[in-house]
Amino acid sequence: MMINLFQSAALLLSLCWLQAVNAHLLRSRGLTAQLVSGLIFGGACVIGMLMATTIQPGIIYDARTVVLSMAGLFGGPLVAAIAAFLAGASRLWLGGAGAMGGVVEIVLTVLLGLAYRSFYLQGKVSRRLLPLWFFGLLVQAQGLLLLVLLPSEYVLVLLAQAALPMLLVMPVATVLLGSMLEHIEHRKRMDLVLQMSEARQRAITEAIPDLLLVLDQDGRYLEVVYPKDNRLHSLCPRRVGQSLFEVLPHNDAWRLLNFIQHTLTSDYPQKIEYSIQGPQGLMVLEGRAQRLDGPIDGKRAVVFLARDITERMSAERELRIAAIAFESQQGMIISDLDSRILRVNKAFSAITGYSAEDVLGQKTRMLSSGRQGPEFYQDMWRSLSETDRWQGEIWNRRKNGEVFPEWLSISAVRNGQGQVINYVASLTDSTERKAAEDRIKQLAFYDALTTLPNRRLLLDRLQHAVASSARSGQFAALMFLDLDNFKNVNDRYGHQAGDRLLCLAAERLGNAVRASDTVARLGGDEFVVMLESLERLPEEAAAQAEHTAQKVLAALAAPYRIGTAELRSSVSVGVVLFNDESCSCEELMMRADLSMYEAKAAGKSAVRFFDPVMQDAVSSRLRLEEEIGHGLLTGEFIGYLQPQVDEAHGLLGAEVLARWQHPQRGLLGPASFIEVAERAGLVEQLDFQMLRGACELLALWRQQPALERLSLAVNISARLLYQVDFVERLLDLLRETGANPGRLKLELTESLLLDDLQGASTCMLALKSHGIRFSIDDFGTGYSSMAYLQQLPLDQLKIDQSFVRKLPEDGSSLAIIRAICALAVSLELEVIAEGVETEVQLSTLRDTGCQRYQGYLFGRPMPLVEFEGLAMANTLDSGREGQALLWRI
Ligand code: C2E
Ligand code: CA
Ligand code: CA
Repeated sequence: MMINLFQSAALLLSLCWLQAVNAHLLRSRGLTAQLVSGLIFGGACVIGMLMATTIQPGIIYDARTVVLSMAGLFGGPLVAAIAAFLAGASRLWLGGAGAMGGVVEIVLTVLLGLAYRSFYLQGKVSRRLLPLWFFGLLVQAQGLLLLVLLPSEYVLVLLAQAALPMLLVMPVATVLLGSMLEHIEHRKRMDLVLQMSEARQRAITEAIPDLLLVLDQDGRYLEVVYPKDNRLHSLCPRRVGQSLFEVLPHNDAWRLLNFIQHTLTSDYPQKIEYSIQGPQGLMVLEGRAQRLDGPIDGKRAVVFLARDITERMSAERELRIAAIAFESQQGMIISDLDSRILRVNKAFSAITGYSAEDVLGQKTRMLSSGRQGPEFYQDMWRSLSETDRWQGEIWNRRKNGEVFPEWLSISAVRNGQGQVINYVASLTDSTERKAAEDRIKQLAFYDALTTLPNRRLLLDRLQHAVASSARSGQFAALMFLDLDNFKNVNDRYGHQAGDRLLCLAAERLGNAVRASDTVARLGGDEFVVMLESLERLPEEAAAQAEHTAQKVLAALAAPYRIGTAELRSSVSVGVVLFNDESCSCEELMMRADLSMYEAKAAGKSAVRFFDPVMQDAVSSRLRLEEEIGHGLLTGEFIGYLQPQVDEAHGLLGAEVLARWQHPQRGLLGPASFIEVAERAGLVEQLDFQMLRGACELLALWRQQPALERLSLAVNISARLLYQVDFVERLLDLLRETGANPGRLKLELTESLLLDDLQGASTCMLALKSHGIRFSIDDFGTGYSSMAYLQQLPLDQLKIDQSFVRKLPEDGSSLAIIRAICALAVSLELEVIAEGVETEVQLSTLRDTGCQRYQGYLFGRPMPLVEFEGLAMANTLDSGREGQALLWRI
């Protein structure tokens, strides 16, 4: 029996060993391991049965119940089934009376084992020693119960022989086997856990991009785990045990060693950033180290993780640069593919007035001003999709609604796959630049006062006009305009009023021509109008230009209201036409200028077209101006006197008419110098010389009873009248000479007075209060109105000789004369007719009621001596009837 027990124990030990081997070898193959495990359990049962103690013939006793119950408990259904099958088959093969009972016992034992397993898995029972022992007892009790099923003659024998060992030994065997299997399973589980944790550890270590080192206090490498990234390999020792100084440059090694020693003094992980020259350039590394608890080989050590942060650092640097660049002076917008704004910078807000919150998530079109049409944006997007870039000037709208120009450049940003992911736009406010540009342009090409193009721009446009007219064959016209008597305005009202008048004139000029025509100011009171695209035929083109010139004349002739004053100004226009390039721009300008002088010479408010002979005329005019100036200084101008008579009193006096005693050309009439003197600003001087002469003469006549009652009419240009100190000067002159102011009459030309009625009136009134009288010269030829006649303190109307000359045939002249006479009566003015040459004219005039005359019929303008002689004779003959007729020479 004892031997039997040893055999069983050996069997169980070998069973355990086999199971341990199986668990180790086939740990990863579940099914095979189970099959093998089943075979081992089954095999153990078979061997146990072969070595079994035969209690009675056919009835054997062995430890199969222990094995099978443990197969059920530890192996599970499959293992148990295989073991049970082998054991059952073996028992049947052994046969005998206990065969069937044995098989039933096998099945029940297995089932009990499985039941225990089931409870165990549910956590209802453990597999410790005591439960195992009870379980062993239960299994044996079941065996004993089965003995009862045997033929009754065996039962008592069997019970006597087997009950004790079964109940005493087998449960203990169960506990032993169970404990050993439990241990194997525990080992197996622990192995698995270890294996998994190792695998996890390995995976983690491999996944970490860091270089893992264990370094001792002397900087010796104790352990090295390489990351996959081979950039870091160069920083690793060839073998463990090397020192930092053998691997790294001295300075770097020294630095790291310091760091290690510092880490060893600290309880917390330490960090260091350092750069090392790697094979592919400078590498930036971030090291983290933690002191290890125990010493290794007697030396303190640290775990050191080194990470390559070169790329991160350069990315960060780029980002920092980008961030600074983003916050530049330029406004920046980053948008997504749908033009939704993702980011803007401060400059953007400063320029547009929109804060980041206002615009984030909005579409960029919220900024658009609506000034650019859809084609503009189509072009922009085309350029962006083709070249990834667009730049140009664009008008956008600020938050306050103001539309402003900006210089915008947009770039597309593509990802690694080449797809556009963002747009980056930078914008600069070009308002100021544009304003400055405009200002510069304005200064360079436009007249500051009137904002009209200046000479420079005009020449530029003229050049184009010349070329394009030559191409098209259509005529173009260049018109020079000069305001007549503009100087008077400046002199009388100051430059501010003059400037205002120029601005108004500029405005009127602009309105009088087409938008495509150019109106320019050359300076002073000179303007230029350039008409383009006229007809191809010269006559028609000239007619068109003439039409425009007349429009301009009319526009500028209307009164100008400046402050309280109402000023009038006419203009003289010179025109040159061109439709080829035969003339340079300068020459065209010169020609138009010449024509303008011609227009002035022809009587103001006139239009003249260019003619080559004008060239000479102007040259001689300039010469003449010089000579007049000289003549005025040397006293070459003298006054001729032309008698003025009336029906009742005979000789009334004379009109003083200037003559020029020219050193070479002899005596010259006003026609050869008055106009030129006016243009040259010399006429005031001439007038005053005539006035002085007249006053001196009147003072002399005052002493002679024969001449004392005669009066003198002096022609006064408006320029003189408007001179600020004229009244004062004339009164001084009268005082100085002692002339009788009542004998002095000033002849003014109607059209000249119109420039400034108010001013003329004030001045006349001042003089009138001293007895000086006024006559309106050339009456009927200019612009007359009742209002104006009433406004001026006049004494006399002088019917222009053009009407008188046409008498008696011309009915309309006669009608005009009649009307003038009637007017004079109603206004209580004297009337005098000039240019009376014939008796018929005289009688016709007399019939209309005009009683004063001047003309060749009574005497031509004559030198003083001659006049005085005649005057004396006239006085001697006075008293006789029809004395006045003496003057009919
Ligand atoms: P006005 O004041 O209308 O002078 C009259 C002009 O008619 C004078 O021409 C005179 O000689 C001319 N005349 C007089 N009777 C007759 C006539 O029966 N038949 C014809 N055919 N002509 C006659 P004159 O002397 O050549 O003067 C021309 C103009 O020059 C004057 O026209 C006057 O406006 C201007 N003038 C003359 N002297 C002066 C002056 O001292 N100062 C200014 N500002 N203008 C002057
Ligand atoms: Ca006159
Ligand atoms: Ca006259």
